[in-house]
Amino acid sequence: MDARTSTVSPEAAQDHEPSPALDATEFVRVFTNELQYTRGVTLPQASNQDKYIALVRTVLRPLIDRWQATQARQAEQNGKTVAYLSAEYLLGPQTGNALLSTGLEDTAREALSTLDIDLDELIAHEIEPGLGNGGLGRLAACFIDSLATKDISAIGYGIRYNYGIFRQTFVNGHQVEQPDTWMSHGTPWEITHPELAQPIGFAGRVEDTINSAGQPARKWVPGWYVQAVPCNYLVPGYGTDTVNTLRLWSARAADEFNLHIFNSGDFENAVRARTYAENISNVLYPEDSTPQGKELRLQQQYFFVAASIRDLVARTLERGVSYADLPQHITFQLNDTHPVVGIPELMRLLVDDHELEWDDAWSITREIFNYTCHTLLPEALEVWPVDLFGRLLPRHLEIIYRINEEFLNEVRLNTGNELLVRQMSIIQEQPFRAVRMAHLATVGSRRVNGVAALHSQLLKDNVLKDFSAYWPDKFTNVTNGVTPRRFVRLSNPELSDLLNDAIGTGWVRDLSQLSQLEPLADDSGFLEQFALVKAHNKSRIAAVLAARDGIELPSDAIYDVMVKRLHEYKRQSLKLLHVVSLYARVLAGTLNAEDIEPRVVVFGAKAAPGYRMAKETIALINAVAARINNAPELQGRLKIAFPANYNVTLAEKLIPAADLSEQISLAGKEASGTGNMKFALNGALTVGTLDGANVEIHELVGDENFFLFGMTEPDAESLAQAGYVPSKFYEKDADLKLAIDLIASGAFSNGDRSAFESIVSDWLWHDRFMALADFRSYLDIQTKVEEKYRDKAAWNRSAVLNVARTGFFSSDRSIQDYLDRIWMEK
Ligand SMILES: *Cc1c(COP(=O)(O)O)cnc(C)c1O
Repeated sequence: MDARTSTVSPEAAQDHEPSPALDATEFVRVFTNELQYTRGVTLPQASNQDKYIALVRTVLRPLIDRWQATQARQAEQNGKTVAYLSAEYLLGPQTGNALLSTGLEDTAREALSTLDIDLDELIAHEIEPGLGNGGLGRLAACFIDSLATKDISAIGYGIRYNYGIFRQTFVNGHQVEQPDTWMSHGTPWEITHPELAQPIGFAGRVEDTINSAGQPARKWVPGWYVQAVPCNYLVPGYGTDTVNTLRLWSARAADEFNLHIFNSGDFENAVRARTYAENISNVLYPEDSTPQGKELRLQQQYFFVAASIRDLVARTLERGVSYADLPQHITFQLNDTHPVVGIPELMRLLVDDHELEWDDAWSITREIFNYTCHTLLPEALEVWPVDLFGRLLPRHLEIIYRINEEFLNEVRLNTGNELLVRQMSIIQEQPFRAVRMAHLATVGSRRVNGVAALHSQLLKDNVLKDFSAYWPDKFTNVTNGVTPRRFVRLSNPELSDLLNDAIGTGWVRDLSQLSQLEPLADDSGFLEQFALVKAHNKSRIAAVLAARDGIELPSDAIYDVMVKRLHEYKRQSLKLLHVVSLYARVLAGTLNAEDIEPRVVVFGAKAAPGYRMAKETIALINAVAARINNAPELQGRLKIAFPANYNVTLAEKLIPAADLSEQISLAGKEASGTGNMKFALNGALTVGTLDGANVEIHELVGDENFFLFGMTEPDAESLAQAGYVPSKFYEKDADLKLAIDLIASGAFSNGDRSAFESIVSDWLWHDRFMALADFRSYLDIQTKVEEKYRDKAAWNRSAVLNVARTGFFSSDRSIQDYLDRIWMEK
């Protein structure tokens, strides 16, 4: 049976605005019923919490109907299922998206208003499930949205963390982390099935045994088990009936786990043992791009991957599919190396449990897995010490050794190069013996992809160059994308209305239709409407930040926005040096404050709790903000806003208000970025380096509609080779010196010179990501930004052209590329 799935043509997509499944009267009836019989309250008794849950349950009804029909249809089609394996899903709030996909927003608003309930107040009640750190987890959320919208038989697998990414607060300008209690209001979007839990083993020993055919075999006898409980989330497509599943696993203690402890009468230890097992899905590790190598983290990885693989393989075999045909029915996409332990797990399942021959199992496994690499930073490549790995997963380590031995023998035979053999080994020997998960992923996958054109090239040239020389056809690119449902249609309703009026509604499912806007970039009436939308979005975020953080913002200024995780390679410090240099020059009398084009610089960034440099950068931004925002010289000219706890909810309000999108990583360090795409689609102009997907944005929107600056990747590489000495840049650039000296003087720390000493020293002596080398170029481009902003018509024209030319960055297009280049590629 042909596994190919249908996609809707652009013409058909025009008619896909969802029609509501309920009318307002019916909505009121179901809603009040839910209040009465699931919350047990009458309308006058109901709290906002009751009303929110009743709203969710009302909206879930038509979705569940569609969900069940989807499952029946997909089982009948018996095609290929795409299983997306990801340790993170940064979903963002669910209610608005569910109302959108059911077409129920207007109905709900009308129905609730007859009960004197404000829909927006209930929507605001939701705490977003922050089950991811940043870009990687948000990408997974965009992809499952697109898979459903494109009617693809797909399932997302991951972990249902009890605590997601921490809630960031500032105390005296320093980041303080609070636990993310996203479930404290209940989890009405979730459908949990404790009765379908499966046992997942850990540790123990491996024994010799005889299989049913009388052949010698190996058998893993785990030392302890934990139950993986499936928690289902509905993933509705837009403009289609498809509702796919996101299945997140929650850990529960296995009953047999501590039976003997109970029997021994040691109640306290029995309870402690339960807590230990249930700890597995308790908390998301808050490190973004820097794996910690903690045992619990490996437990999490194996826990969700083992449960997911067993789940899908069992259901596929039940449909009568043979082992040999599994690759025609399943594809596992590995979102970075976190789920890579799935490769030895499938081997174990096939060889030990299902008694397949090793070679047959290996060829099946290598057909089923595909690996997406997300990094270029060497420290972000996950490795697991073999002693830890072997203690927790002894049979898997054996399997990895055998995979490695056979692979290296093959390399030896084909190349006769012992250096290459060592470089390509799945096991590293130095500085400690460890499993290189990226190597295991590459050896065990059919396709390996990077996430932007430049990144995929650098993977082939640097990070995995031996592998790409060995298997040139294994490597491909799929440039990331973002869902236009959440990041335009929902987050920017006024722009959406403007687009609907101008080019129809088809863009929501087919974002390439944005190109129809192109001629309107020269229509002054349209530009004015577009500018008005931007102005309204600025007022909207100003109101949000006033209420949320007590931040007062002017509405008539450049909204210059840098929001993303705090990381040295992303160079928030370069943005800060720009701001400080403006202030320093005003103080020094070399810049007239009146000549500064009024600007609001908005930062949003969480730092990993153990990442010292990142946390100090946060403290410095807050310190600079405190001073600059109160400097009489700068009133009405320059302001910093740093709202705490940047998350999807805030992103949806902030990005539509931005004029300028800061994408200023050192070239060759950001794999793709997806924030850059969200901004361009909402009509912000990018100031950026030639890094990640910026390269493609720059090419698509055109140089005159993009503020390009800084070194290229080869420039940065040469500078590093030549021996980079940041202090030379400090000494020869008077403005840079003025800015750094002002910080070093204690001007932002009540005269305390030691407060930011480590940042200043790092700039002068280390500066791994070369902020100082790009400073002059960055300052010059910011002057161009100001000039262009003064010419409102030119700015607005460029902004419209950014929208018109970035339809490529829809995650629907990314998913089509995955289908063409990876999942359905023959
Ligand atoms: C899109 C997004 C990111 C990723 O931003 P980058 O600029 O690509 O790093 C991180 N966090 C949130 C909340 C997002 O919505």
